[in-house]
Amino acid sequence: MSAAVSILQKIFGYQAFRGFQEEVIEAVVRGRDALVLMPTGGGKSLCYQIPALMRQGVAIVVSPLIALMKDQVDMLDDLGITAAYLNSSQTAEESQEVIDRLYRGDIALLYVAPERLMTPKMLSMIEQLPVSLFAFDEAHCISIWGHDFRPDYGELAQIKERFPHIPRIALTATADPQTREEIAERLLIDPQRFIASFDRPNIRYRMVEKTKGYLDEVANFIIGEHMHESGIIYCLSRRKTEQVAQELQNRGVDALVYHAGLDQWERESNQNQFYERPCVMVATIAFGMGIDKPDVRFVIHLDMPKSIENYFQETGRAGRDGLPAEAVLYYGLEDVVQQRRLIDMSEADDDYRSVMMAKLEAMLALAEDSGCRRVRLLDYFGESSAHCSNCDNCENPPMTKDVTVEAQKLLSCVHRCYQTNGLGFGAAHVIDVLMGERSEKVLARGHDRLSTWGIGQGLSAKFWRKVLRQLIIKHYVKVRYELRNVLSLTAKARSVLRGEEAFYVRVEGTKKLSTRKVLEHDDLNDDELALFNELRMWRREAALEAGKPPYLIFPDATLLQIAKVKPRTPEEFLGISGVGQKKYERYAEAIFEMLAKD
Ligand code: ADP
Ligand code: ZN
Repeated sequence: MSAAVSILQKIFGYQAFRGFQEEVIEAVVRGRDALVLMPTGGGKSLCYQIPALMRQGVAIVVSPLIALMKDQVDMLDDLGITAAYLNSSQTAEESQEVIDRLYRGDIALLYVAPERLMTPKMLSMIEQLPVSLFAFDEAHCISIWGHDFRPDYGELAQIKERFPHIPRIALTATADPQTREEIAERLLIDPQRFIASFDRPNIRYRMVEKTKGYLDEVANFIIGEHMHESGIIYCLSRRKTEQVAQELQNRGVDALVYHAGLDQWERESNQNQFYERPCVMVATIAFGMGIDKPDVRFVIHLDMPKSIENYFQETGRAGRDGLPAEAVLYYGLEDVVQQRRLIDMSEADDDYRSVMMAKLEAMLALAEDSGCRRVRLLDYFGESSAHCSNCDNCENPPMTKDVTVEAQKLLSCVHRCYQTNGLGFGAAHVIDVLMGERSEKVLARGHDRLSTWGIGQGLSAKFWRKVLRQLIIKHYVKVRYELRNVLSLTAKARSVLRGEEAFYVRVEGTKKLSTRKVLEHDDLNDDELALFNELRMWRREAALEAGKPPYLIFPDATLLQIAKVKPRTPEEFLGISGVGQKKYERYAEAIFEMLAKD
């Protein structure tokens, strides 16, 4: 058995590595740089935590999320691993204590925020210490083209210059190929790349167009199917989070609010409560990155997310324990208009704004698509997959309409415009030409003399935009982000133009949020279910006593398995996923006792 596997089993209590965790660990232990792309919940942390235990010195883990450092450290502490953090939430004495421990060689993992790491003091301290590795968590923050750009991350590029001989590992859950390359280039030296499937098979995706009663529908959905479970509801505005939370509370749902307008005390208190008990958090996206509560059973968007990357990351907070979870998006064209306005008003430069616009359009195209949500979503991240049977469009194929002729007109128009300058024009202009507008730009370019001018009259601009979005997301039309979103055809467009391939769009028709029981406990018989509930009650007590959130004692998945397996011997107990040596020592006795009573 390899040393890494032995650590995995003895310390973390897991039987086997997932995906390519072991390969990553091996590369880093050998001193190689690694770029790791794994979806949320994929198990990125082990990829640097285990090498940190196998190599000499302290591992420096860079994370932008000060609020989560304490959780991480507590969790490691629980496993008997010495970890600490340095950030602005500490007093001078507290940080001094950590520094003393560092010099004593007493810390295996140190979490720091990027701005703290890059201070001269910190860098010179690191020069004097044996350092096992650098881990850059949420590494996509370095990309200007990404959706979470943080200027502090740019500075991290110096690390590889200053410490070329210490291995680096960069990790992220969202990165399109462009961002991926930027991470590799700026943070790493000749990294080995590990790109996991982004599929989250336990998440069921649904996207519903908003109708008048949609808030009622959401309330019924929570009360009917997810009462006393945890969930997150995302809204665009602070005011809306307050209204929705109030509405849910009126109906007896345990709902909390989180947005940047709350004072720090309230924000933290609400966040802590969310970790401590099953409840619903109604939040803006300020409630964000790194939320790692494992038993979030649903994520509902009440407004359109800014991009597919955001959607994927936000929905990825559901079902991290691998049990069935739901992602429901309610969208309306009003949200899109509102988002566009926000982008317009933002202080970003024009190039950046046009990228944001294009990302928003892609999100809308996904919502309007009639094919499998998972196929489309994964395709966006460059991954191909089969139909999933676990999304609304797979379960209930929507009505579609053949718009091949319209698509041909639009494609021809994109191409005719493109030919006039060899670069292409943006969507608004192409649609103006198609609809026979005489805008200033159309006239200035002489595009009213193109053969495609006016061939799209009689249909609305809204319709044409929708067809165009679908052509883009399905890769018939290419958008050049770096050139203000100008459009050109891809090779794939030819078969539609020649009539060899038909093109369909979804016909709107709102679908009720159909109800289906989450499988979670369905696998248990009555006795097992009773035992599971007993175990949960025990866990609650144990959590209160330890002053920790329940899932840190044992996640639901572990309790479910205990209820099913009913371990009688230490071997059986240790064989349960999520039970390591420390947890065994701490909790086995209480659980054996409970099982013996049965
Ligand atoms: P990420 O950082 O990629 O979002 P985490 O590292 O937080 O994901 O891991 C998600 C969950 O999966 C955690 O509860 C973690 O302990 C668990 N996990 C990670 N690797 C394994 C494994 N090999 N076997 C079982 N569970 C694992
Ligand atoms: Zn599907």
